[in-house]
Amino acid sequence: MQESARLKSPDVDAVSERLLPWFAANARALPWRAVRDPWAVWVSEVMLQQTRVETVIPYWNRFLQRFPTVTALADAPEDDVLTLWSGLGYYRRARLLHAGAKAVVARHGGVIPRDADGLRALPGVGDYTAGAIGSIAFGLRVPLVDGNVERVLTRLHGLRGDPRAAPLKKQLWTLAARYADRPDPGAINQSLMELGATVCAPTSPRCLTCPARDLCVARREGDPERYPEKAPRATVRTEAWQALVARDGDRVWLMPSTLGRWQSMLLVPMREGSGDAPWEGPVGRVTKVADVVHVLTHARMEIAVYEGRLAGEVPRGGLYAREALDAAAVPKVTRAILAAADGDEGQRRRRR
Ligand code: SF4
Repeated sequence: MQESARLKSPDVDAVSERLLPWFAANARALPWRAVRDPWAVWVSEVMLQQTRVETVIPYWNRFLQRFPTVTALADAPEDDVLTLWSGLGYYRRARLLHAGAKAVVARHGGVIPRDADGLRALPGVGDYTAGAIGSIAFGLRVPLVDGNVERVLTRLHGLRGDPRAAPLKKQLWTLAARYADRPDPGAINQSLMELGATVCAPTSPRCLTCPARDLCVARREGDPERYPEKAPRATVRTEAWQALVARDGDRVWLMPSTLGRWQSMLLVPMREGSGDAPWEGPVGRVTKVADVVHVLTHARMEIAVYEGRLAGEVPRGGLYAREALDAAAVPKVTRAILAAADGDEGQRRRRR
């Protein structure tokens, strides 16, 4: 530790001179990089939060086709937005993007503001997203720090401490602002993110191919993975749930969720807990057919899936054919439960 404390933090300009040509030569050809449209950048940055690039690309393409402008999204009903987002998860992002688009129309006549304060004042746009839109689309000298940048900067500069805690968080944003203070802030911001995404991985970083390897404190110390020094996360709690797949022929009973997690999206009847209490509603004998584990940020849901036949009118929601669900606002958990129940049903059919 004492030895590493003596290693000098590299000069920001020297690192930038390595990163910029590396980024120009090695940047992945992502569709949103082909346009400098602030709306396209905004959508990509929101989708990329907590989601992998390969997953985002088809969603981004479909979303931009359906909502090519901020006004197109602002004018759309929420159901349409959630339907296009369906399967991407973290639906709060879609709702906030929708609210942000409406605010651009209401406050700025449909023109995305070209200044960081105006961007940050929009619903769902924090420092990171304002930094991304501002620097990439408008060339503003505004910084951004996401998980990739946090890892790259703590390693390059040997920054100790928990980046989620205020002192290092502030230091990271100040350092990122020094990086962004140059003629092409969008390129340097993206090069820091790209290095983290493709070379400076959380485990086994590929230091030998890194353009800044001889400047990097963590590599010179010999243990890059020690950065960032995160304090352990709060434990994820395990929750027991039950789900009911109630069928009427090929249709299943779904209803708008009253759970905050999937507010107003379509779920099968679900209840927390375990036990043999009868299900409310027009369903007779039920059989347990599968177990599903669904992991959220703060909870691991262990869901016992039951199946039964409907024997009357459903009191809430409606009956949906499976094909119709492909185009509906259905969260991943519903799809997982139905797939588990279908798998069981499929096996039973095959056995018949
Ligand atoms: S040298 Fe290694 S640890 Fe340092 S920035 Fe490059 S990839 Fe990351």
